[in-house]
Amino acid sequence: MNPFIYNALPTRVVFGRGTRAQTPFELERLGRGRAVVVATPEQAASAHDLAALLGAACVGVFAEAAMHTPVEVTARALDFVSQLQADVIVAVGGGSATGLSKAIALRTDLPQMVLPTTYAGSEATPILGETDAGRKTTQRTLKVLPEVVIYDVDLTLTLPAALTATSGMNAIAHAVEALYAQDANPIASILAEQAIGLFAPALRAIMRDPLDQAARSDALYAAWACGTCLGLVGMSLHHKLCHVLGGSFGLSHAATHAIVLPYAAAFNSRAAPDAMGRIARALNRPDAAEALQELNRDLGTPPSLQALGLSEGDLSHAADLAVANPYWNPAPVTRKGVLDLLRAAYLGSPVSSQTRSAA
Ligand code: NAD
Repeated sequence: MNPFIYNALPTRVVFGRGTRAQTPFELERLGRGRAVVVATPEQAASAHDLAALLGAACVGVFAEAAMHTPVEVTARALDFVSQLQADVIVAVGGGSATGLSKAIALRTDLPQMVLPTTYAGSEATPILGETDAGRKTTQRTLKVLPEVVIYDVDLTLTLPAALTATSGMNAIAHAVEALYAQDANPIASILAEQAIGLFAPALRAIMRDPLDQAARSDALYAAWACGTCLGLVGMSLHHKLCHVLGGSFGLSHAATHAIVLPYAAAFNSRAAPDAMGRIARALNRPDAAEALQELNRDLGTPPSLQALGLSEGDLSHAADLAVANPYWNPAPVTRKGVLDLLRAAYLGSPVSSQTRSAA
């Protein structure tokens, strides 16, 4: 038998097309009527559209969210929210907008409603990562779990192809690591395998036609499933490496996940054969790591960490940071193993040539 612990997360999820029209009703249901809408500067127009939909129930728009949730942006947002006496935060956007909403909720206990427009999955988790002076720290607390998530497939139709590809791989990374998590549970594993199986054909279809509504719908559902996995179980080496590369070297979050994932899977392949079998089955290929690299190639994600702007001299420091605090991973984590993995990802080498951890 496989004993497990399962902790359900209490978020109300509304999924469909055109569902953003339900935002006023959902606010009423929460008993709130002074919303501040948060977004990134690039999605200010979406935030103002939502504000117009909310009418008098919206008291302001704060469109300054930034990747990796810098604390100085949060400080400005807190002033804005307090001056306007807001009683709820509504985020529209990807993980950056959701991150700002969570950072405000952490400090004010205000309820949150999130309308996701990428596949990052942050809206489904009680996790908040923040950066302060170039250092990223992450915490897990129910205080940041959004009360309501409104998935509207229409909001994802404008996600550019390149971001769709990397954001989809970011989500798949949650599912991959959920399958070999130390605290894996049957619900998360079923969701993970189903999501990987839906994502691969959906992302390939979206690359051909970004307005393919059936594929967009499958991708958004799969993103919810992957985010749910991230919220339910602990992550391992892959997420640790991406956290270091994003937080300390400023690399783009989703693209970093896409590049590193096949190498992390190869690193763990011998130590987690059941998980690898399920990933390979979902991708309909014999080898999980090679199938993930093939998917990246088909989607045209950036080929290497070098292409993202990392310099070779950073690899050693990144390896030091990644092994600084011991954490669980299926295969034992050594500095040499991590450095080899990072070098392969830096060069974009085929995973078939990667030395697989013997554990
Ligand atoms: P993002 O939110 O930074 O979005 C990337 C860019 O795409 C932004 O300019 C955004 O405005 C634009 N964009 C988003 N959706 C769009 C759409 N539908 N149409 C047009 N443009 C659109 O990127 P992301 O990858 O979603 O989020 C990354 C951030 O989320 C990082 O800070 C990461 O740490 C965090 N994250 C947190 C968790 C968690 O559980 N705490 C999980 C995943 C990601």
